[in-house]
Amino acid sequence: MLDLLITDVRLPDEEAAPFDIGVREGVIVHLAARSSGSSAPDSAEALDAKGGMLLPGLIEPHIHLEKAYLLSRMEQEAASLQDAIKMTAEMKRSFTREDMAARSLAVVREAVRSGVTHMRCHAEVDPILGLSAFEAMLELKEKVKRWLDLQIVVFPQEGIYKSPGTAELMEEAMRLGGDVVGGITYQDGSLHEHLDFVFRLAEKHGKPIDFHADFSDNPEHKAIADIAGRTIASGMQGLVSAGHVTSLGSMEQGRAEALAGLIGRAGIHIMTLPATDLFINGRGDGVSRCRGLTPVGLLQEKGVNVVIGVNNVRNPFTPFGKADPLETAWLLAVTAYMGSAADSGKVIRMLTHGAAQALGIGDYGLKLGASADMVLFPASSERAILLGKPEQRTVWKRGVKTAETRVESVLSEQKALIKSI
Ligand SMILES: [Zn+2]
Repeated sequence: MLDLLITDVRLPDEEAAPFDIGVREGVIVHLAARSSGSSAPDSAEALDAKGGMLLPGLIEPHIHLEKAYLLSRMEQEAASLQDAIKMTAEMKRSFTREDMAARSLAVVREAVRSGVTHMRCHAEVDPILGLSAFEAMLELKEKVKRWLDLQIVVFPQEGIYKSPGTAELMEEAMRLGGDVVGGITYQDGSLHEHLDFVFRLAEKHGKPIDFHADFSDNPEHKAIADIAGRTIASGMQGLVSAGHVTSLGSMEQGRAEALAGLIGRAGIHIMTLPATDLFINGRGDGVSRCRGLTPVGLLQEKGVNVVIGVNNVRNPFTPFGKADPLETAWLLAVTAYMGSAADSGKVIRMLTHGAAQALGIGDYGLKLGASADMVLFPASSERAILLGKPEQRTVWKRGVKTAETRVESVLSEQKALIKSI
């Protein structure tokens, strides 16, 4: 006896539609093409998907929750990255635990409605906030665990050495349960000192690393080369991620290719954050502005796992956005020239299997034995999902429905319209 049976469902990468998929105790235990003729087991609950497409739960791999929704507190727009950091540092002084918890929960709720079942957030740890943002995220992680699995990166936004006391706070946050050690290559005077600390802390706790790196359009910024060298030297291939890495997109082709190859050999996951990167980079160009993105196509050619994150939701870094990974993915597809049907499949994989690999999520995917984390769309292909970004979605976490959005829109009859004119 199943707990849930979804019939007549299309699966990504499967030409032979449709399928039936069954869940018991939170795990996918039945998966069969309808054409196989095998009858589906009995189920306590059944849903006819009517040919809709089921994806594994969407993954938001890079987000800042405690500094979301700050637009109403901003007196002006940030003119640069350093401006955004400075403005946010000022606003952080008035953040309370309750305030951070409420804004973070609002983002998570939107993400869950959008189909997100796993998320990695960067909690800022510094002398301004102390451990309050980190502790708010720990509480949130527990509170929302029925909806999604939340990983917390211990993130030194203000720099580790530039902001004395941060190193000790990071040590403490890792002791208290941080999932990932964070780093930021453009905040401290000495990159080597910064990397020494981050790699040492990760090694001490046996945890992965997630950097903010090379967030500029200056081709001379290439901290990612040092990160790759250290990743290989410390045997951490596959356990290190880097967000932004946009300066790579401004480099001369030969240098960019060599560096992309090195990133691939180091097994570093690159997280492209298109909304922030497009908004902040290229401002100094005057005309013929650069796109400000990491070169997604080149990195993928070199075997790098590239994933997509929203990064910020409505704050000085990115005064746009919502926590729907499909919105971010659509933006990337447009700006990274990923317009074909095959590209749509590739972009959806970046949001799902690619991100699962980056976040080290094991029991993932629409396969027997995997956790039943799923989202159903009223669309017949990955391309239709990416292009249409349908609001209508049904979401399950470990086989339990966590969100359902229904949309009804009625167009007036042509005759009535003509009459009203
Ligand atoms: Zn970020």
